[in-house]
Amino acid sequence: MTSSAQNITEPDVDTVVVGAGFAGMMAVRRLLEQGRTVHGIEKGGDVGGTWYWNTYPGLRCDVESVEYSYSWDEGLQQEWVWPERYSAQPDILKYAQHVAERFDLKKHFEFNTKLTRATFDNAANIWTVTTDTGNTITARWVVMATGALSVPKKNDLPGAETFTGLNLYTTSWPKTPVDFAGKRVAVIGTGSTGIQVSSEIAKTAKELFVLQRTPSWSVPAHNRPLTAKEIADVKANYASERLRKRDSMDGLGLPGTGKSALEVTKEERDAFYQNVYDNMSPFTFFGSFTDVLVDDAANQTISDFLGSKVRERVKDPAIAEKLIPKSYPFGTRRTCIDTGYYEIYNQDNVHLVDLLENPLKAITPTGFMTDAGAVDVDIIVHATGYDAFTGVVSDVDIIGVDGVNLREVWNAGAKTYLGTMTAGFPNLFLVTGPQSPSVLSNVVVSIEQHVDFITDTIKYLTDKGYNRMEATPEAQDAWVEMNNGIGQFTVHRNSHSWYMGDNVAGKAHVVLPALMGVGPFRAACDEVAADGYRGFALAS
Ligand code: NAP
Repeated sequence: MTSSAQNITEPDVDTVVVGAGFAGMMAVRRLLEQGRTVHGIEKGGDVGGTWYWNTYPGLRCDVESVEYSYSWDEGLQQEWVWPERYSAQPDILKYAQHVAERFDLKKHFEFNTKLTRATFDNAANIWTVTTDTGNTITARWVVMATGALSVPKKNDLPGAETFTGLNLYTTSWPKTPVDFAGKRVAVIGTGSTGIQVSSEIAKTAKELFVLQRTPSWSVPAHNRPLTAKEIADVKANYASERLRKRDSMDGLGLPGTGKSALEVTKEERDAFYQNVYDNMSPFTFFGSFTDVLVDDAANQTISDFLGSKVRERVKDPAIAEKLIPKSYPFGTRRTCIDTGYYEIYNQDNVHLVDLLENPLKAITPTGFMTDAGAVDVDIIVHATGYDAFTGVVSDVDIIGVDGVNLREVWNAGAKTYLGTMTAGFPNLFLVTGPQSPSVLSNVVVSIEQHVDFITDTIKYLTDKGYNRMEATPEAQDAWVEMNNGIGQFTVHRNSHSWYMGDNVAGKAHVVLPALMGVGPFRAACDEVAADGYRGFALAS
């Protein structure tokens, strides 16, 4: 499509949706149900988002599959059968494919197409969207379903470009299997990705060097095939359980004791933690006791318990100590799930390279160099994380009213109202944007809430004859301030992580995920909508 935004009064389509992951597919489906014209744009060659790009060995979701799936179609959730408790990436991608085919969504997306620029016409209230394929399309509404973790952090390793061996990036892994047998391999990064990929590579590599700067907490996944009875039980209760969970703090409805961690005995506390460790989602730790996310001493009880587990799993006490996080409170960085991660350090072919003890000086043509000396490797696996939440606007131009670029606005610290809109960018909706629960929840539950809120909003606006909506700066500032305030009240107050933008040099420190919890966030959105979209300016 090639229309120009100049002097137009009617756009080419009602809505442009950017991204064909879980959020984009649902948004397209909802908008089609409303009878709208929708044009989807997707950078990848197919649907799936994260699960399309991340195909590294060992990748599993850290939310149980029966939960990490859509709830909006009863037929879909009844017919789909998850093979494992924590399904592997290929099965999640298969699910995404199934959804796209079942609801005939693919024909609404232009694949292998990246948004490069979007410009708002302040008089016509219309966006002009330009892509790297040279297309231009105009739309009344734009929905950015681009994910919080979709843009890798820029490679900041000194000398990275000099390495003459094979560089592999977990965020754009080769589509054909990589053979590590007989190879000397370095993995850089020990977040969820580094932990998963190292556990797999350790099985076949001749030597594996895991370069760790900050250790993560990790809990065994206890992954296994699901039984027919388990699947039948879940399906019998899906409808009611999904409803219960979407009003919970984490979107998972995990149990807690309702007590302070400091008012019970160590035995009682550890018995609860042990049950979580053996049987439940690791995110159960967060709500295990009422004060573990607000009180440092209560929080420390989890670290003490999990530290003892690392010491049990790793034979060399000195290595175990290096693997135990000591520089941040539990929960202020992502807790990982693993399959045999700590045990790889009991293998002769695996070496922990502690970058705190011996900082990384450079990547060299043949490997890497730390203060302890040079190590030659054949392959470097980069698992160094994402430019979370805001990365997606860092290499595109989104131009709002008065010619202001969203990238520059967010440079000073990402701000939204309800995680949905940024002041100065009317008619541009964000799914799981900054200051929404997103990464601190079962993200599919958060996606569903956000997509429903956005598409219900678009319907409301259209039904009432409005063609413009934007967050007011006052409502936005109050929302961001409230979220930062919750951060101060919790163990996040002194934390530095990608949750706060701290992993990217020069990025402003701001609490990126909403900390209030999934249920309260939903209630806040519903209340704003019921109050005529309080805090948003609506216009015809
Ligand atoms: P991450 O948590 O940001 O971890 C990146 C790792 O790379 C950190 O250990 C970091 O160390 C290290 N690193 C970055 N730059 C470095 C440098 N210049 N030198 C040395 N080390 C460096 O990223 P991720 O592991 O990709 O995970 C991101 C998020 O994606 C997760 O938290 C999770 O939400 C999601 N995820 C989920 C799953 C799952 O469901 N199982 C799997 C993968 C990812 P520092 O911490 O010291 O900076």
